[in-house]
Amino acid sequence: MRVLVTGAAGFIGSHLTDRLLAEGHQVVGVDCFITGHPQNVAHLAGSPDFVLIDHDVTCPVEVDGPLDWVMHFASPASPPKYMQHAIETLRVNAEGTYHLLELARRKGAAFFLASTSEVYGDPEVHPQPEDYRGNVNSIGPRSMYDESKRYAEALTMAYARSRGADARIIRIFNTYGPRMDADDGRVVTNFITQALREQPLTVYGDGSQTRSFQYVDDLIEGTVRLVKVDYHKPVNLGNPEEYSVLEFASLIKELMGSASPIVFEPLPEDDPRQRQPDISLAQRLLGWQPHVSVRDGLMRTVEYFRLIP
Ligand code: NAD
Ligand code: UDP
Repeated sequence: MRVLVTGAAGFIGSHLTDRLLAEGHQVVGVDCFITGHPQNVAHLAGSPDFVLIDHDVTCPVEVDGPLDWVMHFASPASPPKYMQHAIETLRVNAEGTYHLLELARRKGAAFFLASTSEVYGDPEVHPQPEDYRGNVNSIGPRSMYDESKRYAEALTMAYARSRGADARIIRIFNTYGPRMDADDGRVVTNFITQALREQPLTVYGDGSQTRSFQYVDDLIEGTVRLVKVDYHKPVNLGNPEEYSVLEFASLIKELMGSASPIVFEPLPEDDPRQRQPDISLAQRLLGWQPHVSVRDGLMRTVEYFRLIP
């Protein structure tokens, strides 16, 4: 297949690109490097099956030749980054999704949207199944991300219903691994880099809020399985292994043998209290479940960060 991947120079997009190439497909990567880095795909330089195009997908996308899939993974994903790039985040998920759905229509390609567990907002249902409609503050400080992802899902469903688009939607829960940007401000990168620099680990609030952490290889496995299945509504992909943020800080300290103290900083406004995926749909539909424990995945991630300058 020939697959267009947006956000190919980002964390998840670069792993998806590697996997598609390993399966013998051709990949056209598109990225404008707002939060990603060309070095995430530098190892692919010279590959006859990969090309990287520097383009902002909020502008119409034109690509020569056929496409079988358009996979839209471009968007800032870390809260500090999407707050810093608020308008760009709204636009990549709104206009970007529109241009990519139109590209897929013109090429007769299928369309794949990377959505997020943030569509559930600060969830009142726990764990979160796909039919939970969420608790989102439409004008809150995270709204540039969660509302634009909700719009992207709605637009994708509208193309599927009214224009016959062959679409897939995944709702990704907190995912981590090598090639995350060390400075992106997410909890995994902050705690690992703080421990490596022998700085205090910054826990926001009292650390009782929870997250469930998925290693990137498990996400990519679920993603490629969904490509092969005829199902058009959203599917959760995440690891139900749930930690409070304070427990997570202690785990990182233990795994890294770190003596860094834990300090408490103010909780950001609208920070979700809890988050855990209900993955029964993905289990039934894809025969999928995560295989990498948080301990193993974190050790692989720590090794990566130890090696980068
Ligand atoms: P990332 O920031 O590492 O990657 C995003 C990539 O998209 C970057 O390379 C960035 O430069 C590119 N990009 C952004 N706007 C663009 C535009 N207008 N045109 C072209 N390229 C653009 O983030 P990530 O963690 O790899 O996230 C990838 C996707 O997965 C995003 O859609 C994100 O919303 C989604 N997601 C990620 C997580 C997670 O935990 N990592 C959770 C939920 C959803
Ligand atoms: N967090 C924290 N310390 C940090 C960074 C984040 O305590 O240095 C908390 C944050 O408030 C949230 C959780 O960790 O409750 C996960 O944050 P992240 O930015 O990784 O992702 P989110 O799930 O909020 O999108």
